Amino acid sequence: MKTDVFALRHIGIREEDLNSMLNTVGVENLEQLIFETIPDHIRLKEPLQLDPAMSEHKFLAHTEELSKKNKVFRTYIGLGYHESLIPSVIKRNILENPGWYTAYTPYQAEIAQGRLEALLNFQTIVSDLTGMELANASLLDESTAAAEAMTMLFDVRSRDQKKNGVVKFFVSEEILPQTLSLLKTRSLPLGIELVIGNHDEFDFDSGFYGALLQYPGKFGQVYDYSGFVAKAKENDIKVAVAADIMSLVLLTPPGEFGVDVVVGTTQRFGIPLGYGGPHAAFFATKEQFKRNIPGRIIGVTKDTDGKPALRMALQTREQHIKRDKATSNICTAQVLLAVMAGMYGVYHGPKGLKYIASKINATAVTLTDALENLGLYQLNTAYFDTITVKADAKKVRPIAEANEVNFYYVDHDTISIAVNEATSIKDLNQIIEIFAEALGKKSSEVTELLNTTSIPENIERSSSFMENKVFNSYHSETELMRYIKKLERKDLALNHSMISLGSCTMKLNAASEMLPLSSANWGNIHPFVPVDQAEGYQIILKELAKDLSTITGFADTSLQPNSGAQGEYAGLMVIRAYHESRGESERNICLIPSSAHGTNPASAVMAGMKVVVTKTDEKGNIDVADLEEKAKLHSDKLAALMVTYPSTHGVFESSIKQITKIIHDHGGQVYMDGANMNAQVGLTNPATIGADVCHLNLHKTFAIPHGGGGPGVGPICVAPQLVPFLPSNPVIETGGEDAITAISAAPWGSSLVCLISYGYIKMLGEQGLTHSTKIAILNANYIKHKLEGKFDVLYTGEKGRAAHEMILDCRPFKKNGIEVTDIAKRLMDYGFHAPTVSFPVAGTVMIEPTESENLAELDRFCEAMASIRAEIDESSADEPNNVLKNAPHTLEMTTTDEWNFPYSRQKASFPLPYVAENKFWPSVRRVDDAYGDRNLICTCAPIEAYMETE
Ligand SMILES: *Cc1c(COP(=O)(O)O)cnc(C)c1O
Repeated sequence: MKTDVFALRHIGIREEDLNSMLNTVGVENLEQLIFETIPDHIRLKEPLQLDPAMSEHKFLAHTEELSKKNKVFRTYIGLGYHESLIPSVIKRNILENPGWYTAYTPYQAEIAQGRLEALLNFQTIVSDLTGMELANASLLDESTAAAEAMTMLFDVRSRDQKKNGVVKFFVSEEILPQTLSLLKTRSLPLGIELVIGNHDEFDFDSGFYGALLQYPGKFGQVYDYSGFVAKAKENDIKVAVAADIMSLVLLTPPGEFGVDVVVGTTQRFGIPLGYGGPHAAFFATKEQFKRNIPGRIIGVTKDTDGKPALRMALQTREQHIKRDKATSNICTAQVLLAVMAGMYGVYHGPKGLKYIASKINATAVTLTDALENLGLYQLNTAYFDTITVKADAKKVRPIAEANEVNFYYVDHDTISIAVNEATSIKDLNQIIEIFAEALGKKSSEVTELLNTTSIPENIERSSSFMENKVFNSYHSETELMRYIKKLERKDLALNHSMISLGSCTMKLNAASEMLPLSSANWGNIHPFVPVDQAEGYQIILKELAKDLSTITGFADTSLQPNSGAQGEYAGLMVIRAYHESRGESERNICLIPSSAHGTNPASAVMAGMKVVVTKTDEKGNIDVADLEEKAKLHSDKLAALMVTYPSTHGVFESSIKQITKIIHDHGGQVYMDGANMNAQVGLTNPATIGADVCHLNLHKTFAIPHGGGGPGVGPICVAPQLVPFLPSNPVIETGGEDAITAISAAPWGSSLVCLISYGYIKMLGEQGLTHSTKIAILNANYIKHKLEGKFDVLYTGEKGRAAHEMILDCRPFKKNGIEVTDIAKRLMDYGFHAPTVSFPVAGTVMIEPTESENLAELDRFCEAMASIRAEIDESSADEPNNVLKNAPHTLEMTTTDEWNFPYSRQKASFPLPYVAENKFWPSVRRVDDAYGDRNLICTCAPIEAYMETE
């Protein structure tokens, strides 16, 4: 065993297991299996041109070296990003803990109660601090959250407003520049007209349906918006506010002056800057909009025994149900970061937050005082943490940079300074000295913070917040460590067993890939620092983009989109810009096969396209005749086809090149959804099949952990004709020559986690990547053969092979009274997370084992599935009191004195010998979704009270 070859650690199958597996599958060698799986005419003829593989230790030394090329200055740029002190207890026990970061999105609520509780904490903090009734469990960043507010309010316009074509949306000139850029991107295809101006001069005309304000303003001025909001209300104009979460500890929460939506980021609640992300944004609104709110909401319900339980609420709002009627495409969000920010709230509690926010404010006040003593003029009359000083930027900047300090230079004589939790008295004196030197004056040293505030009484917060027990209990490290562990123990993650999620590729997230994330040299870089201060990042990002272009066969890559769905949207907007540049802006039809992921139609609609659904034939392939007919019919207006490859049915369609040709012949561009890229890397690629653009889910194929539902990165890779349109950023130059406006707030999206994918590619190299793909395909086909005769595989390729995943048909078991959900829940008793349930076909599961699993684990899973199949045969539709319907079984029910079930306790909870060795106990019985949706509760406080009245 070569101990320094990462591929041998990443890939689970041992050399000595290979032959027996190939035997089971019925092939001579791996190459034969691949030949029978992937159509030969789309196979790559040459190996990918990538750097040779690095060992893990070499990679760690290499990233350490690169990290030193980043210059970590004291940074006071602000604009929505602030240095924050990450409590070590949270960093070590969550960010660096696979029990948290390798979890999947909590669809299987019974084995996800830990992160569901952590997210409920997050929602409660956001609801309380914003003063709103309801908050979701995170969005991607503040700017996309603001765009979601603009579109949600557009969607809920009054009937009259819709009838009268009211489309204007007012945006305060105080809005952050990156948010404004995003609003431009998002408003354009929907026909929303942005009007940017001074909120004091707004005339409340009936042509407006909504408005967005920034609180505090972009350079720190805090306005009293109550008059604006009252007047807007009189005129039926809904108001959204983008607010700084820390400032809300001291400022009147927007909910108290009647706004409809509050958005923002929780980055400064203990999340590293990471050169732009990932961070959890929030979206809070009124109860009346609960069915329109984008993203996921965690809600309280009860389990089979009537005990409190949590789960994702109101799932019917989501795009996988609403498809082209959806108004948001948010799927992956920022769960891990929301969990961390929520824990920051738990750790500090309301008193700690008041201390932190007051200290930040006192720091800003003290700085103002000192600068005024130097004779400088500070513009903000009311402020929280950011002051704006009149001074000669040309003089100040070189002195500041020589002292390794960044300010934001608004114009030649205006400088904005945002202080933060980490700003010390020493830092203050450094800032003061910089200005003194620029003025040629002597400064006097500050020794303590002033005890005055810069927040006028009329906008001072008087209401209490976070009074729940959870925020007033865990303030010592021992207590918080145990609370985090208590939650972690309720959740099944990859550190317990295989999570065989079809389409979501839950592979190894290697420790060596994750380790660099802990370094301050990567964590403490603000996204808007001058590019020459982020040289380490620039090298990583350029290399990663180059390697992804090589892997996809495309010309260039944008790393900006921070989820797969954002990548879809970005790709379609780039296609839209391309058609427009050729004078073909009438092209707006997007063909999408009926089996597509729900985000596809949602993204197409957001990009202003009309969705035309194409049929799938009985073998699960795209119905080429139907596709051709529709392409012909819409030839003049055809914009794009969105196609997933291999298909969501787990098959490499051999007609793919014919399909892409048809689209090109009719003037359209081909968008490939790259969620299934794990079946392609090194063997074929999107350029070869004839696509023009694809997104990749770096949190699926390229080893970024799922985080329990985020972070994600969804870069788009494009053919040469689309390169000019790659997205830009208004503060830092990036993107193509004719770039579209921003897709995400930060220029390179969630840069910090790009280190993970960079490590994945560099440590595997061409051979390791290609071998991973082959083993992923082998593992899927191995499971397929092991389950043959017990479950029907719904679709296979022409030679009977699955790709990297397969769909098992569970509909025939209805005659025994068994639904696919029963199988999913029963798997928990066997220590497994269910595969993907009912996507892309209702009543089925889709299994994707990935290359990282070893043979013993695949066998355990197959054994569990076979055992469940036997249990299905024992079940009858007339007797619902059976081991499947009652699943999952908790420790509590299994050990009570009373046992009234027609099967043994052993069968309930220890159905196979391997289970006893490493039993995972679901912490609640089956959750009641409908009950929770009827009685929606999305914050912590009422749990106990609510359950008592039950
Ligand atoms: C996961 C997935 C998406 C969406 O990606 P997110 O990162 O969750 O936004 C789109 N299409 C397919 C086929 C997927 O599996």
